[in-house]
Amino acid sequence: MDITAPRGTNDILPPESLKWQYIEDTARDILKRYNYQEIRTPIFEETQLFQRGIGEATDIVEKEMYTFDDKGGRSITLRPEGTAAVVRSFLENKIYGQAQPTKYYYFGPMFRYERPQSGRYRQFHQLGVEVLGTDSPVLDAEVILLGLQILAELGLADLEVLINSVGCPECRTEYREQLRDYFAANLEDMCSDCQSRYDRNPLRILDCKSKECQQHLEGAPEIYDSLCTECSEHFDQVKNHLDELAVDYTIDPALVRGLDYYTKTAFEIVYTGLGAQDTIFGGGRYDGLAEEIGQREIPGIGFAMGIERIILALEEQEVELSLTVDLDLFIITIGEAAQKTAFKYLAKLREAGCRVEMDYLDRSVKGQMKCADRTNAQYSIILGENELEAGVATIRNMQSGEQQEIELHNLVSEMESRT
Ligand code: ATP
Ligand code: MG
Repeated sequence: MDITAPRGTNDILPPESLKWQYIEDTARDILKRYNYQEIRTPIFEETQLFQRGIGEATDIVEKEMYTFDDKGGRSITLRPEGTAAVVRSFLENKIYGQAQPTKYYYFGPMFRYERPQSGRYRQFHQLGVEVLGTDSPVLDAEVILLGLQILAELGLADLEVLINSVGCPECRTEYREQLRDYFAANLEDMCSDCQSRYDRNPLRILDCKSKECQQHLEGAPEIYDSLCTECSEHFDQVKNHLDELAVDYTIDPALVRGLDYYTKTAFEIVYTGLGAQDTIFGGGRYDGLAEEIGQREIPGIGFAMGIERIILALEEQEVELSLTVDLDLFIITIGEAAQKTAFKYLAKLREAGCRVEMDYLDRSVKGQMKCADRTNAQYSIILGENELEAGVATIRNMQSGEQQEIELHNLVSEMESRT
């Protein structure tokens, strides 16, 4: 076959899909404890939403979006991230009219046209949380803690928490000038992206991954002296809350989200064992975003976590997840009448909550035994003409080999008592 999945996309097949379910179930359970509720927004949005909500001068909007005109001539974009749509939905549905804060979470595919490599795909999946309607630093600490708890309960260790403050538009005006002064001398040696960032938004130079630029980062002025009183106090309080919760963190002055509507706290949680793509989740505060999207001042904070990167980290740390798909019972049949009867029993057993299966391919008894083995069935039972006539069959514990005769009409209650 010459048709393959598009570059940068992955099929998630069983048993791999069990891991995905396990991660989602674990996360949902924790999210419930933290009182977050699920929001589901469209997979595609008007392109403008991302241009305004992520920012024109970002890699995502400049290079990575899947944008096309639909048959009605509207410019549509497959969502590259979740925050902009959540804020749009919050405004559109006037959720701000309800008691605040609003705590949302989402799971789902995101799309970015990037160079595929380990931990970087064109369709990937995020778990994200967004808290809207409060600028309390408690929530900054809460979302970091929540993300860490999800990773800890999945069994991941050795995570590093990096935090920073990017201030507010006022603090940044001064800081931008300091950065321009500092980088001016070396601008010629820097990459072309950074040369254009220099004019448009020098903060984003701090985030540059190229080696030539990174060597000029050391010694760059830090934002802390430029922070206004409010931003500085907010940052102190976030650190305090994290200290009180005994969360270890490192302050990283180069951690930026360089757009005007990102404010105050920025953070990344990194597992260095992942190599080049080592950030498992990142996020921050965006008190200016709702205004950009819908002319309303609504503070917000959130994170987005890459599920593929969680799975890579689990593999790298050799975490054993308890994933069970084993069957309770496999019914082995001989002949057409037995197949029909078995099919009826399957329905009753499934109604009663048992995981049961039979053969559909007219395999030999030996072949069916193998199927029972392969599906890790806990019990098997053979149904042939004799069993049907006598109304009695032998149920076998596949592990111990122990066998017991039971009356067929009792099969459901027998299985209920054993599972
Ligand atoms: P990076 O620096 O790795 O490109 P980013 O800053 O673009 O990350 P965010 O937009 O903050 O990432 O997304 C949050 C998380 O989503 C990342 O930390 C990562 O786990 C995951 N992620 C982002 N882009 C991809 C991708 N192309 N493939 C897989 N996971 C991704
Ligand atoms: Mg990226």
